[in-house]
Amino acid sequence: MSPEEFRRWGRAVVDWIADYWERVERYPVLSRVRPGDIRAALPKSPPWRPEPFDAILADIERVIMPGITHWQSPNFFAYFPANTSGPSVLGELLSAGLGVQGMLWATSPACTELETHVLDWLVEMLALPEKFASHTRGGGVIQESASSAALCALVAARERATNYATNRSGRSAPLVAYASTQVHSSIEKAMMIAGLGRENLRLIDVDERFAMRPDLLASQIESDRRAGLVPFFVCATVGTTSANGIDPLPEIGRLCREAGMWLHVDAAMAGSAAVCPEFRFIHDGLELADSYCFNPHKWLFTNFDCDCFYVADRESLIKALSVLPEYLRNQASESGQVIDYRDWQVPLGRRFRALKLWFVLRYYGAEGLQHHVRRHVRLAQEFARWVEGSGRFELVMKPPLNLVCFRHKAGDEFNRALLERVNASGQMYISHTVLKGRYTLRLVVGQTHTEEEHVRRAWQTLNRLAAELETSSAR
Ligand code: PLP
Repeated sequence: MSPEEFRRWGRAVVDWIADYWERVERYPVLSRVRPGDIRAALPKSPPWRPEPFDAILADIERVIMPGITHWQSPNFFAYFPANTSGPSVLGELLSAGLGVQGMLWATSPACTELETHVLDWLVEMLALPEKFASHTRGGGVIQESASSAALCALVAARERATNYATNRSGRSAPLVAYASTQVHSSIEKAMMIAGLGRENLRLIDVDERFAMRPDLLASQIESDRRAGLVPFFVCATVGTTSANGIDPLPEIGRLCREAGMWLHVDAAMAGSAAVCPEFRFIHDGLELADSYCFNPHKWLFTNFDCDCFYVADRESLIKALSVLPEYLRNQASESGQVIDYRDWQVPLGRRFRALKLWFVLRYYGAEGLQHHVRRHVRLAQEFARWVEGSGRFELVMKPPLNLVCFRHKAGDEFNRALLERVNASGQMYISHTVLKGRYTLRLVVGQTHTEEEHVRRAWQTLNRLAAELETSSAR
């Protein structure tokens, strides 16, 4: 594609995205295709001859759009958000255009230094403990996901606990890790990948607010010790996936300090709330953590993928993940004056992700980010009040932030049927979980452009469809 053609089609694609964002509410939020529909619309054989770009672009509308679930619709309330924004997409485009592979400082110094700088800015913007900033022994790095951050933390903890014996010889001590019953599945996966075994992850029960019980953690650590096992790692969650439960970091952190265990804090979605001073209580006790992560690709208006991962002692991470073949040796690395982020992650290669984050932080500023996060929390809290005041629905717990867990009073089967109807309506999209053994509906306010009118309409849709279902089940 010549630069002239790229200019022309580049404008067309940007126009297409802007048009899409303007009309996103006209689509059913949840895609309605059946399994196999998209592949059936694609030619069976690969393209042997070049095709004109307008034909390719036309197929976005014809083939792809029916199979899109509209995460950027302001009526998307499911799972946790994966939100985006104009500045983020433009940063992503520039990153693709530059096509930088930033494995080493030397392979594009700006890629590394902007990343370090932006991650330091976030330490200040979220008031994270100073030990995560790069002028200390710690520092931050962008990972593609919270799952990768957890895996890196777990491997660093494993090596610290075994004095690097596992990396050396594959042999390990009988290590055991801990998390609450509400922990994200990525921790179990990390245990599997790190060769530690999912059976060696102890799931600690939670209290009525779905937060880990430190008394139970303490007694489990004690009984594992007595059994000759080696407790080495705790993952605490700030904002659990099912209910946004917040584990008590001060108590858990103290236990970890006493036992010499690594504390990783997973704040994948909720961490972004700390941009607002009034929500920083979620990080009370974070100064006791060895590592921490949150995802701007969830709730900080930065498109997927972008997870910010911080460690208090970067040497322990680098030592656990570094392998140096001859072909990567270079003067800058050997000078000891630069960061080579390849040593902070699983893959060697890395994209210039910091660009989009830089654009977002500058375009919105802390004040702009606070404005949106605050609005989302306020709208979720308002929705929770409507639930509380209704005779039909009940709250499962008072939402700490922007996720409301609720259910219709008629029981599991009714809620399951209601969820199906609501999502089939195309007007909104919510998801479910099971809490205290009962089917529960989840509504998260976190899409960049969700306003009061969208939440109000969601409440009306829920009530209208619940009323229809009540009538048909009464027959
Ligand atoms: N941790 C928590 C609390 C999550 O809710 C999620 C995903 O929703 C993850 C980790 C995994 O995130 P990622 O997709 O970035 O790996």
